[in-house]
Amino acid sequence: MIYLDSAATTPLRREVLEAMWPYLTGEFGNASSHHTLGESAARALAEARVAIAEILGCRASEVTFTSGGTEADNLAVKGIALASPRGRHVVTTSIEHEAVLESCEYLRRQQGFEVTYLPVDGLGRVSAEQVKAVLRPDTTLCSVMLANNEVGTIEPVAEIAQVTAFLGVPMHTDAVQAAGVLDLGVRMLGVEALSISGHKLGAPKGIGALYLRGRVPVEPVMHGGGQERGRRSGTENVAGAVGLAKALRLAESSRAERVERLKKLRDALIGGVLATVPSAVLTGDPGNRLPGSASFCFPGTSGEAVLLQLEQRGIVCSSGSACAAGSDQPSHVLLAMGIAPEIAQTAVRFTLGDATLAEQVEEVVRAVGEASEAVRAIVR
Ligand code: PLP
Repeated sequence: MIYLDSAATTPLRREVLEAMWPYLTGEFGNASSHHTLGESAARALAEARVAIAEILGCRASEVTFTSGGTEADNLAVKGIALASPRGRHVVTTSIEHEAVLESCEYLRRQQGFEVTYLPVDGLGRVSAEQVKAVLRPDTTLCSVMLANNEVGTIEPVAEIAQVTAFLGVPMHTDAVQAAGVLDLGVRMLGVEALSISGHKLGAPKGIGALYLRGRVPVEPVMHGGGQERGRRSGTENVAGAVGLAKALRLAESSRAERVERLKKLRDALIGGVLATVPSAVLTGDPGNRLPGSASFCFPGTSGEAVLLQLEQRGIVCSSGSACAAGSDQPSHVLLAMGIAPEIAQTAVRFTLGDATLAEQVEEVVRAVGEASEAVRAIVR
C-alpha cells in the first residue's frame, strides 16, 4: 500500500512509543496523586510541557494539554470568546476546520455572538486587510488557520496578528497541519493561542495541546477537578503528553531537511499529475503551500470514484478532509474558493509523509492517469 493521506493521520513513530511505554506500564501513576508514582507521572508531564514550550517559544505554564486538535480549537475559540469582556463578535475564515467553524456556530446559536466568516480568494488565501476591515471594538477573537488541511494553502497569520494586536483582539491559529513543517514560534507569529494535534506528526490520536498566552483570560470548556491550571479538567494523559513532546521534538530537529525532501516529492507529484491528466486542476496556492500537500480536481470524473480506482491500485489518499468523511457534500473549502460544486465533487488530496519514496510518487502519477481515465470511461 502507498499511503498518501498523512493530513488525515500518521502512524505512531517507534521512538515515540518507546518514550511513552514506561507511562503506559510501570510508571502508570496519576499526575495528581501525592505519592511516588504520581510524582513520577507529574515530572514526566512537566518535562513534556517544557519540551513543547521550547519549540513554541513560550513559557511551560502557557501550554495546556488537550485530547487533540478539536478540543484545543474548542477551548481557544469558545474559551477566549466567552471570557472576554470586549463583547460578542468573533472573526474567522470560511475555510477553517470544522472544530473552529462549529465552535463559532455554537457561540452564535447559544451565546448570542455575531460571527464574521471572511471569504478567501481562488487560492484559499485571506489577507490582513480583510481582517482589518471587519475588526470592531466588541471583537473578542480572531481565528485564522496557519495552513489549510484540504488544499495546503499557508495563511499570512503573522501579518494578520499585527493587525489584531494593534486593536487588542486576541488571535488564535489552528496549527494542526503546520506542526512539524512550519515555524511554530508564537512570538514570531504574534498569536495569543495556537492549537496542535499529536496524530498528525507521529504521536498517538487523542493528544493535543493549546498554547494560551499568559494574560489571556479563558473560560474552561471541560469542567471538573481543575487540572491544567483549571483550564482543562480531566486526568492528564501523561503517556500522550510525553509522546506529543517526543514527536514534536523529533520533527523539529530535522524540519529543514524533511521540508526540502517533501517539497521535492510534492512538486514531482504535482508536475507528473498535471502532465499525465491535462484537464486536472491543482487546488490551493501553487507556491505558498504545505510541503507535503498536493490537491487536485479532476473535472469530468467523480472524486470518490477516482479514490476507489486508486485504492484498487494500492494507493490510499482522500477526497479532502477526513473529518468530514461520510458527508457527500462538496467541500466547504473548495466552495469558499469559488470552485463550482460539480468540480468540487471531483477533488482528490494527496498528502505525503516522511515515509513517502520517490518511486512511489512515480507509481502514483501512473495510477492517477489510469484511474481518472477509467472513471471518465464510466461517467461518459
Ligand atoms: N484542525 C485541522 C486543520 C485539522 O486538519 C484537524 C484534523 O484533521 C483538526 C483540527 C482536528 O484535530 P484532531 O483530529 O486531533 O481532533
